[in-house]
Amino acid sequence: PTMANSTVTRTFVLPQQPLDDAKENLLIGPDKILGVSSCARKATTTTVKTTVARKLSLGGTKNGQELEKIESIACTEKNGTMGGDDGRILVFVRLRPMAKKEKEVGSRCCVKIVNKRDVYLTEFANENDYLRLKRLRGRHFTFDASFPDSTSQHEVYTTTTADLVEAVLQGRNGSVFCYGATGAGKTYTMLGTVDNPGVMVLAIKDLFTKIRQRSCDGNHVVHLSYLEVYNETVRDLLSPGRPLVLREDKQVMALLQRGNQNRTTEPTCANETSSRSHAILQVVIEYRVKDASMNVINRVGKLSLIDLAGSERALATDQRTLRSLEGANINRSLLALSSCINALVEGKKHIPYRNSKLTQLLKDSLGGACNTVMIANISPSNLSFGETQNTLHWADRAKEIRTKACEAN
Ligand code: ADP
Ligand code: MG
Repeated sequence: PTMANSTVTRTFVLPQQPLDDAKENLLIGPDKILGVSSCARKATTTTVKTTVARKLSLGGTKNGQELEKIESIACTEKNGTMGGDDGRILVFVRLRPMAKKEKEVGSRCCVKIVNKRDVYLTEFANENDYLRLKRLRGRHFTFDASFPDSTSQHEVYTTTTADLVEAVLQGRNGSVFCYGATGAGKTYTMLGTVDNPGVMVLAIKDLFTKIRQRSCDGNHVVHLSYLEVYNETVRDLLSPGRPLVLREDKQVMALLQRGNQNRTTEPTCANETSSRSHAILQVVIEYRVKDASMNVINRVGKLSLIDLAGSERALATDQRTLRSLEGANINRSLLALSSCINALVEGKKHIPYRNSKLTQLLKDSLGGACNTVMIANISPSNLSFGETQNTLHWADRAKEIRTKACEAN
């Protein structure tokens, strides 16, 4: 697939009167959801100069070293005003079931979801040994919710994202990130399968259902874009320029699945189908109503759903140039994301969005009038112990940030 240097927004319009200025772009089809337009957003990609504020050596990392780097960066600037409670981040952890392959090689479970909020990680425990080994070695983490491997997609959606969808319809912005090592369940959580659709699909379904329920007094326009950030290049995953007429339910799943097949997945030594790219689904809802004095009020809310690239240490996989360049870029994006979140909740004046393409794209989806949710995905297998530990530490940190922001208020 070729790298395109522009992003495309598709517009879907519900069956009310089209907005005047959107008319030209509408295709009215036989279904209720209708229109589609492609309007190139002169976005970020061509004009943006990427600068790395701090050059980090990413080679030869040890467990936790990157986290320490993130931490030290966060501590370097302590000026600015205090953040509002909009910087509050909710952090969730989702444990996936043990994979067949993992079972076959005799791997043991090293993670236990102890209750609805607590995760226990130990290098040695399996679930049955939990009580006995608790005393020996291991670590507890507490999150806003922790999902055991039996948790349904629907429950994950309801607990993590349903409120954001509601807020987006009130004109706020919301972001949901899936974070974790390759194979930990990020794409399953975000996209899911046809039988078990994930957060992206359930959110769009919910959105349309809610719009239908309340759209007697105005018009809603829903813009959808699905982008990939790969190697600091932004690419449209939905074949730009081709108009589409959609039903919102089944077809959205098909659309996103096709988009996902366009994602850059390159074999690496560590994992054949490792996903090296970030995928960002952005849904913008415009809503116009007339108030009592017949003034038109325009509300815009944006929901960003982000399937981040694998968080495994960049150079743990392959030292060769492209792979390690990718690794550095992936880490740059993840690092930049952490820096932005830190800066936002600490109320800094300068938020380093420009440090990576990912954060440039999410500029209006972090902080401000935005609710942010992190879902950390983990594998139960002791073979992934190190990655799981890193992920839980990172998630734990994200949680602390939230606490700080609350205290600041
Ligand atoms: P990632 O996107 O983090 O690399 P995937 O979402 O592709 O990981 O998950 C890896 C494998 O595990 C896939 O085959 C996926 O279907 C499966 N999987 C992940 N999470 C779950 C889950 N909660 N329930 C069932 N299967 C899952
Ligand atoms: Mg994936």
